[in-house]
Amino acid sequence: MATEGAPPEFKLSLDSTAIAEGPEGIGESPFDFTAAPEAMEYPAELGDDPAIALRRTLGMFATGVTVITTSAHDQVHGMTANAFMSASLNPPLVLISIDRRAKMCNLLHEGDRYGVSILGEHQTEMSDRFAGRADDGVPQPAFEIVRETPLVEGALAHFVARVDRTYYAGDHSLFLGHVEYARHNEGAPLLYHGGRYERLGTDAQVVPELPEGLLPPLLAAGEQCSFADGDAIVRRGEVGDQLFVILSGNVTLQRPGHPDKHLEAGSYFGEVGALSGESRVSDAIAVGEVSCVAVGSDALKSVLAGSPDASWEMLGSLAQRVREA
Ligand code: FAD
Repeated sequence: MATEGAPPEFKLSLDSTAIAEGPEGIGESPFDFTAAPEAMEYPAELGDDPAIALRRTLGMFATGVTVITTSAHDQVHGMTANAFMSASLNPPLVLISIDRRAKMCNLLHEGDRYGVSILGEHQTEMSDRFAGRADDGVPQPAFEIVRETPLVEGALAHFVARVDRTYYAGDHSLFLGHVEYARHNEGAPLLYHGGRYERLGTDAQVVPELPEGLLPPLLAAGEQCSFADGDAIVRRGEVGDQLFVILSGNVTLQRPGHPDKHLEAGSYFGEVGALSGESRVSDAIAVGEVSCVAVGSDALKSVLAGSPDASWEMLGSLAQRVREA
């Protein structure tokens, strides 16, 4: 039987998990595998490790980003998860998949409640925090308690679910939750695709000032970063080692003795410092919430070297800037 070898807490009685009614043959024996599994086949360019190949391929599935929360011993614990799905409307069920090494996995048991906060597009820092990769200085999250369950404030949608069943799923565990509370706000979601954060309609917002051939490799080579209204993205006098492409929001370049310059989504700045290593001559200040991709000097140079035609086009765009200045 397929549950053999599974940890004891996941050995469930098949009688109690059988679905009473459903399409013929579906859902009647959830733990019976009909054939011995064959090794996964994948292209050689994905490398030697099938788990990495699978992860990279799964990364093509675009998802939202949630923070799963629970409270244990009067402490709130949260973790970022994109393996969240709706499972049933009647009864209302959702499903999350948690790595068995994650602390969260040890905190959730049948009968416990968990919160799901679906993050908005402005909440990349929150996602990084609950994935254990926040920089120092990232603000502490605030929680609202609903049905004794913490929910992340400012998220786009919230659910409280009570763990109905847990299922063994290899190196992950599945927690099927019965939804006891659901509400949502208006706004745009944070997305995750290909191992990076994305936003809805990014392409529509980015009318690129950069040549078409350079934009995708630069976005792929850079790190996405977010800034709040009034933040200095770069300061005059700092050594310039990054080019910034604005994905959303506006940036003002302030340079003494010069009129302020306003840049919108699709525009870029910091190229002179990134290419020459010279100090910044302007402050770049975020106007409202700003999302950028920051591309380091080395990455910029290797992208330019890899796309000679697009590099010529970029030279043209830089010459145009010089002429305008
Ligand atoms: P920890 O690693 O100890 O905690 C996570 C982080 O949250 C820590 O930095 C901790 O300080 C912080 N934190 C926790 N509680 C609080 C609090 N009350 N106040 C302030 N900070 C707090 N893993 C999965 O298993 N399933 C997924 O579906 C999944 N999806 C992911 C999607 C994305 C986009 C990303 C970036 C990561 C995803 N991960 C997923 C990985 C997962 O988020 C990390 O492995 C995470 O570190 C596991 O958390 P943990 O429970 O082990 O706790």
